Amino acid sequence: MKMLTSVMEQVIKRNPNEPEFHQAVKEVLESLEVVAQKNPQWVKEGIFDRIVEPERQIIFRVPWVDDNGDVQVNRGFRVQFNSSIGPYKGGLRFHPSVNVGIIKFLGFEQIFKNSLTGLPLGGGKGGSDFDPKGKSDGEIMRFCQSFMSELYRHIGESTDVPAGDIGVGGREIGYMYGMYRKIRNEFTGILTGKGLTWGGSLVRTEATGYGVCYFMDEAMKSIKGKSFDGATVVVSGSGNVAIYATEKVHQLGGKVVALSDSSGYIHDAEGIKLDTVKKIKEIERKRISEYVKYHPNATYTEGCNGIWSIKCDVALPCATQNELNGEAAKMLVDNGCYGVGEGANMPSTPEAVEIFIKNGVVFGPGKAANAGGVATSGLEMCQNSMRYSWSFEEVDAKLKDIMVNIYKSASEAAKEYGQENNLVIGANVAGFLKVATAMSAQGV
Ligand code: NDP
Repeated sequence: MKMLTSVMEQVIKRNPNEPEFHQAVKEVLESLEVVAQKNPQWVKEGIFDRIVEPERQIIFRVPWVDDNGDVQVNRGFRVQFNSSIGPYKGGLRFHPSVNVGIIKFLGFEQIFKNSLTGLPLGGGKGGSDFDPKGKSDGEIMRFCQSFMSELYRHIGESTDVPAGDIGVGGREIGYMYGMYRKIRNEFTGILTGKGLTWGGSLVRTEATGYGVCYFMDEAMKSIKGKSFDGATVVVSGSGNVAIYATEKVHQLGGKVVALSDSSGYIHDAEGIKLDTVKKIKEIERKRISEYVKYHPNATYTEGCNGIWSIKCDVALPCATQNELNGEAAKMLVDNGCYGVGEGANMPSTPEAVEIFIKNGVVFGPGKAANAGGVATSGLEMCQNSMRYSWSFEEVDAKLKDIMVNIYKSASEAAKEYGQENNLVIGANVAGFLKVATAMSAQGV
């Protein structure tokens, strides 16, 4: 008899209208059924009932004044999910689709991801339904200041240390950090992803994208004897994660031929020219469609799903949740794709994951494959505590080590529970064991 069915039923009952949260919890609980069978004392101690319920959920009003002098009101969130192995840690997302269910799914995933890094980091996530697209720098600044004027009372270097996510990069972190410093009159590491002259870490910007490639390179070598060298790769998105995943694929000898944004995708069979993408996205903050103006041999196609019809050896979905469905997974498999690494959080639907696993594709789930960002944030916190900075090479070497170790932990856990090479189960189990042990030791 299944031991965790009632936990899932309770999650659905208690959190109606939160499909992404249900999806994330369901996947983890299904993986953990074998762990529950082996450790019935954890069921008795309510570890599973407790881990699906956030320790704290904060929802707040974010009023700000736009360039026309009109007052705008957004909603801010911080979900502090689990602090049994360290202070809450997880990004802030600014996107119109943000609601409490999305933040909860991300915060829940973060518990296991942070545990997998081997660093003392708890799980949390936050954000707002604010849309940064098309806003002036002044509007972004006023919004970030207002957001922090409430968030500051809930965070701290030993309590909760947010970072960036979709719509939150170096600029937004800067405005929020400045506001925190004014209110609190202290210079401490309460956010990660900071600028290099004020407490930031080298490699943080590149970390998630680089980390996905380090993870997948190790996984593909170990499972299939393949690597990025000579591989054709499709990457979705064209934000922070996608750009630096592309950079690392190229450094490892592969060729990225496609990138996208929420409007459409570009295909450059000769290989994406990353300098052009960085200019368009990081400096000019324009749409990816601009790329074809600089490289007329490339094509631009409206709509996102078509990107998965491009023939490739490896696919790296790096945009957003549920962007790769069963139909897309089938196209990838039919075209000979042998590796899929999730740079984004939960980009593959459950149907897509099933197709990858059934067909022996090396599948790196987000909570393992994209943990390089939070791991490097952990290294930033470490440098802040020491008031010291490591070199690029030092941080990059630590990041690579962490990603290889995450692969090994997930792979060993999968094997131990009779699911060799299933990194979904492996990552969920390995991430869970450490947190459950801590929760059990610390009492109810
Ligand atoms: P960015 O805001 O830098 O980039 C997001 C990219 O995804 C943009 O190209 C954006 O296009 C696209 N995108 C956003 N929403 C949608 C949508 N609904 N449909 C299609 N495309 C969309 O974010 P990041 O690169 O930081 O984050 C990307 C993913 O990686 C997210 O899932 C995030 O949670 C995850 N992640 C990020 C980490 C980090 O360190 N930054 C760490 C771990 C995971 P457009 O401009 O059109 O919106």
